[in-house]
Amino acid sequence: MQSLTNRSVQVVNKKMTFWERIYLPAVIGGMMITLKHFFKKHNTVSYPEVKRPMASIYRGQHVLKRDEQGRENCTACGLCAVSCPAEAITMVAAERQKGEEHLYREEKYAATYEINMLRCIFCGLCEEACPKEAIFLTDRIVDADYGRGEFIYGKDKLVEPIDQRIDVTKRQVWDYTK
Ligand code: SF4
Ligand code: SF4
Repeated sequence: MQSLTNRSVQVVNKKMTFWERIYLPAVIGGMMITLKHFFKKHNTVSYPEVKRPMASIYRGQHVLKRDEQGRENCTACGLCAVSCPAEAITMVAAERQKGEEHLYREEKYAATYEINMLRCIFCGLCEEACPKEAIFLTDRIVDADYGRGEFIYGKDKLVEPIDQRIDVTKRQVWDYTK
């Protein structure tokens, strides 16, 4: 018979020795390996109590930015949704009403804006496509959760709080040619 690779191994029904049959040496061997790792330096951290420093250009949870006056930058143009390869972004546009000029920078705004974090691959194309500097990825990690529905992030989670601005300047000035 022709062999496709030179890695084929002939299977033999070898009879187990007495020590192999009682499994004790194998169990002790396994426990020795476990014991050895007790005294080794750990490469893991106890997340979320301990967090490793993230690169300032890490692509994590998105933020929808406000301008200096606290108005939402997003004009619901839909370019981020169109550019998203995972089809993770959906939105509903609305017209800004009289008296809402302090809330929304443009005449059109996103009444609802949602990102499905389970679909998102954190590629950053939405950020690239946005003409209004409204959406950025940040160095925040999307929290784990139990229900799939919890991963649909709406404006309540995406728009930055007025009193807790999220600094994205490092992403904008980073020299990607380095
Ligand atoms: S980071 Fe990529 S996958 Fe995620 S929402 Fe933006 S464009 Fe879509
Ligand atoms: S985030 Fe930017 S690209 Fe997306 S709808 Fe808003 S303004 Fe348009």
